[in-house]
Amino acid sequence: MKIKGTQLFVKALEQEGVDTLFAYPGGMAIDLFDALYGVESFNVVLPRHEQGLVHAADGYARATGKVGVCLVTSGPGATNLVTGIATANFDSVPLVCFTGQVPTNLIGNDAFQEVDIVGICRSICKYAVTVRRREDLGRIIKEAFYIARTGKPGPVVVDFPKDIQLALGSDEYPSEVSMRSYKPSTGVHMGQLKRAAEMLAAARRPLFLVGGGVNIAQAGESLRALVEKTHIPVITTIMGKGAIPTDNPYYIGNMGMHGNVASNTAVSECDILFSIGTRFNDRITGKISEFAKNAKIVHIDIDAASISRNIVVDVPIVADAREALAKLNEIMPEMKHDIGDWTMRLRKIREDRPIVQDGGGDVTPQDVIRAINDTFPEAIVTTDVGQNQLWTTQFLELKGRSKLLTSGGLGTMGYGLPAAIGAKLGRPELPVVCVSGDGGFQMNEQELATAVCQEIPLTICILNNCYLGNVRQWQEMFFGGKYSCTCLRKRKSCGAWCSSPNTECPPYIPDFVKLAESYGIEGIRVTKREEIPAAFARAKAKTNAPILIEFIIEKESNVLPIVPGGNALSEMVCEYKKEGN
Ligand code: FAD
Repeated sequence: MKIKGTQLFVKALEQEGVDTLFAYPGGMAIDLFDALYGVESFNVVLPRHEQGLVHAADGYARATGKVGVCLVTSGPGATNLVTGIATANFDSVPLVCFTGQVPTNLIGNDAFQEVDIVGICRSICKYAVTVRRREDLGRIIKEAFYIARTGKPGPVVVDFPKDIQLALGSDEYPSEVSMRSYKPSTGVHMGQLKRAAEMLAAARRPLFLVGGGVNIAQAGESLRALVEKTHIPVITTIMGKGAIPTDNPYYIGNMGMHGNVASNTAVSECDILFSIGTRFNDRITGKISEFAKNAKIVHIDIDAASISRNIVVDVPIVADAREALAKLNEIMPEMKHDIGDWTMRLRKIREDRPIVQDGGGDVTPQDVIRAINDTFPEAIVTTDVGQNQLWTTQFLELKGRSKLLTSGGLGTMGYGLPAAIGAKLGRPELPVVCVSGDGGFQMNEQELATAVCQEIPLTICILNNCYLGNVRQWQEMFFGGKYSCTCLRKRKSCGAWCSSPNTECPPYIPDFVKLAESYGIEGIRVTKREEIPAAFARAKAKTNAPILIEFIIEKESNVLPIVPGGNALSEMVCEYKKEGN
């Protein structure tokens, strides 16, 4: 039977098992939306901006492990996806993004709302393609889903011209993929794995460094079994956090620029750094020549290009983390030495030099995150980017089915709220909490409407310090305290350049409580520590609507420790006093 391209599109999503489509209509996608009318096999969610849309699909994908699916129109609809596609690409998130396109005979003519989205996205996605012939449509969609979810997952863009949408063609949707040009690696090189296992067993100060790849591979169970067997201490990158429960006795903490002292010391002192699913980016290595310089390094990663790119490793193993860890569990010999002293030493450093909240205030970020830990023993927590994100990664406990969703690689402000919406739509059985800052929240606050219309409970926590806090912190510590364009309350009448917030400053721009109320939801402002439990009790009681809680925190609190850019991990700044104090 012959059907239109739009009908095959709907059939393809059904056959791929899609349950949620994040979609925003427009001229070059209107026929696709016509085909979606009345479809009941999946939920079509209408966000309020395409950037919110793609972050919601990203949050859905990270929360469920499934592919997030987006549909937008051409031109601005497509370009509004760009930041979200790059965000997903950095953090290996599987997305398939369909963009409407002008008819093929107008491509290249500067037609209305025409952009070369494939060209724009080529360097920030896993694969991008324009469908040029109706007969290729089914195969291209099938391949898009396959490419997005296999190997190192990532976003795929399918640009879908209007004439192909309308053209009649076969109703067949392929059941299999056959691509000569793309073969994700499978299997584990057992020789290399045995070599790594023997090195690990012979080590006196071994350390597991667990990255985002372990969460992506859902390899937590094998990791826990291996740790139980070997008693080797574990540190994580912020993307690897949660792969092992944070209360596991062998878990030391996060490492890197804002990691804890014990974890960063462990990297400097270990003799084997057994790393799994991490890209060794500059936020975790610090000065490369000083990184783990007493250690032999093993690196398991699914992407050959991640291996020895930033840090040269001794034993490279290209493999899926889940498969490799399962095999490692089978072949791991007895540890040759007692490593108890090493583990005790790291635990002692962690006890003696814990992460402490810098700055005072009636409500501290640590108070807020601790209250999240207490209120929601299992939850999906999303963050925005900046200090709110870093405090969350430092103080959040992750146990059971809990997950942390954060924009690590691109550091995209505005990520938190839409990602929380996508996460809740994908995992309705778990509470979802969004921790945001007053800056990042304003980048996608319009998505409050989406949460309201989807009738989902979300606990939205805004840590309001009236600053773009992370940049302000760097200006304070490394730029002589000149707060250039980081005060979110600065008005024209404030005077030229101000680095001293005071009582004359306007209190709220905007008033987030009123903003919440304007969307018909409850907004609470918390200014004292003792008000925190009642606010979270209100949040916990919500069943079909979000709640927004604004926490007024100390304006100039800093995230500590910090490894200043270009320094070695051992050169952490753990205490800081503002000049003049
Ligand atoms: P990812 O970037 O997610 O990389 C995952 C790796 O796993 C990739 O190499 C991929 O190929 C591989 N992989 C994917 N799937 C599999 C699989 N199935 N099997 C095996 N391998 C797989 N991060 C920190 O850790 N510490 C910090 O102090 C820190 N500070 C930050 C500050 C700010 C303001 C921001 C915005 C970010 C910060 N980050 C920090 C985050 C940092 O930028 C990186 O995002 C993060 O360190 C990357 O961690 P990763 O390499 O483990 O994970």
